[in-house]
Amino acid sequence: MHATRSSDILARTAPLYERVKNVIPPVEWPVFADDIDAIQALKRARNAVILAHNYQTPEIFHCVADIVGDSLALARQATKVDADVIVLAGVHFMAETAKLLNPDKTVLIPDLEAGCSLASSITPADVRLLRERYPGVPVVTYVNTSAAVKAESDICCTSSNARKIVESLGVDKVILLPDEYLAQNVAADTGVKIIAWSGHCEVHERFNAAEIRSLREQHAGVVVLAHPECPPEVVAEADFAGSTAAMVDYVAAKKPARVVLVTECSMSDNVAIQHPDLEFVRPCNLCPHMKRITLPKIRQALATMVYEVTIEPAVAHRARQAVERMLAI
Ligand code: SF4
Repeated sequence: MHATRSSDILARTAPLYERVKNVIPPVEWPVFADDIDAIQALKRARNAVILAHNYQTPEIFHCVADIVGDSLALARQATKVDADVIVLAGVHFMAETAKLLNPDKTVLIPDLEAGCSLASSITPADVRLLRERYPGVPVVTYVNTSAAVKAESDICCTSSNARKIVESLGVDKVILLPDEYLAQNVAADTGVKIIAWSGHCEVHERFNAAEIRSLREQHAGVVVLAHPECPPEVVAEADFAGSTAAMVDYVAAKKPARVVLVTECSMSDNVAIQHPDLEFVRPCNLCPHMKRITLPKIRQALATMVYEVTIEPAVAHRARQAVERMLAI
């Protein structure tokens, strides 16, 4: 890079580096700074916004994103976006949800391979078979599913609101798919009988109860927060179980001196940046799908307008209804 241009970029991005200096060494920053500076310019040129999930790396989450949060927050915010282009720094089902709620906007995902083990665990045909097997039982679908699967369901939910959505239906039996552990964790908390599917999040299913006990032995007084996609034995060992948004709120409200977030790695990095006074223990697991999204790919997406997310209109109409029913509750 030309020396003058390089120092201009470093000067322009200096305030952004302040945000992430505790997790990104100074020697690495110039590589990020070039992409970040270009992305900021492209966003202005395209009238674009970047929506980033909590599991994105800090240079994306803190330096180029306009809106951040968990699946529910992104879905909600996506309805209020005033831009021509939405870039979803997250996985494919999230980009589909943004498209469902913004049919007239261009929605881009920087890597088409950014999938999800939960979303790929179930097909629309599977949902139709479940309906045949349990006639009349409403289908609640976790947002971590394709638009085609959402289109087969009555209402969506997230890990934040799953119990509330299940109970809002006023029935004694519900099909809750595709995350088996989320379904079991909700079932433990409600009187509604839950019929589950056998999908798992490949990140959260790897945690186990012995690991949590060992963390407590190694880090005296640590407060354990677990995501409800973890196996029930992990949730049982935790001090608190909640969605990524609920974990963020817990840390902000209770300020535990030493805390562990039993979830995806970048989540701890992003929350730790906001709470430099707290000690974060980090036995995390990486989501390989989330990690497909990088600054160079975001830059490429905005420069060349790839990859546009499209949904067949009939599918989109039914899937949108399922998401909107959730948002209305
Ligand atoms: S963390 Fe789990 S649920 Fe989230 S995108 Fe990755 S595989 Fe899917």
